[in-house]
Amino acid sequence: MITFENVTKVYQGNGTQVKALDNVDLHIEKGEIYGVIGFSGAGKSSLVRCVNLLERPTSGKVIVNEQDLLSLTPKELREAKRNIGMIFQHFNLLNSKTVFTNVAMPLLLMNTPKEEVKQRVYEMLDFVGLRDKADNYPDQLSGGQKQRVGIARALATQPSVLLCDEATSALDPQTTDDILKLLKKINQEYKITILIITHEMGVIREICDKVAVLENGKVIESGSTFDVFAQP
Ligand code: ADP
Ligand code: ADP
Repeated sequence: MITFENVTKVYQGNGTQVKALDNVDLHIEKGEIYGVIGFSGAGKSSLVRCVNLLERPTSGKVIVNEQDLLSLTPKELREAKRNIGMIFQHFNLLNSKTVFTNVAMPLLLMNTPKEEVKQRVYEMLDFVGLRDKADNYPDQLSGGQKQRVGIARALATQPSVLLCDEATSALDPQTTDDILKLLKKINQEYKITILIITHEMGVIREICDKVAVLENGKVIESGSTFDVFAQP
């Protein structure tokens, strides 16, 4: 479902270079919940942003749904990206827009007919338990509710992949637990492949089938969560 082949990402600054990803190979099967864990600066964010080309790898191949993303035309890439939803640590909602419009946004951007938008948005708000908040603004919501809106928005286009960039790092433990349960439900009910990047071991242990440990841009270990983190 998601394959990285020799992916390297180098950031060029004025005279300086940072190698955020160093020859990363990764293989995520359809339907898996896959975690990438590492300390701050390990390259996690760069890795997840290379899956939907928010960042372009400097070299290597990124294959999602059997498509080599770097070889697609701009139009093909737009289509491919609809298939990849993403949620963020700080939710990235539009604060001047209602919950309804935030969730509708990806559909509006692809000119979906109005009735279909409405139906889909309410379907997603029901799924995350926020139908009654449709007319509220993000500032009127708790952190956990904001992340539910982020999830509803990410799922609006019916993607087969969901990317989670430190999605629970700004939430308290109870809310984190609720969001992780929701991610598990998404994985089971919609058969969506989920890639989670986090610095929190608890998140990995709670829901990830497999895990890769990232250090200085390199995968230093990977396998089933049980095997990688088995106590000696
Ligand atoms: P993590 O998500 O694990 O904290 P990042 O992928 O954000 O790691 O960062 C990996 C390395 O790349 C760090 O050294 C970081 O400073 C650097 N980096 C990340 N984004 C940029 C950027 N846009 N420009 C320059 N350096 C960057
Ligand atoms: P903004 O957030 O930009 O002020 P609104 O969210 O009020 O805009 O409305 C943007 C569009 O979404 C409008 O076409 C409106 O009819 C539709 N819309 C907004 N809220 C709802 C809702 N609860 N149910 C159905 N359609 C809605």
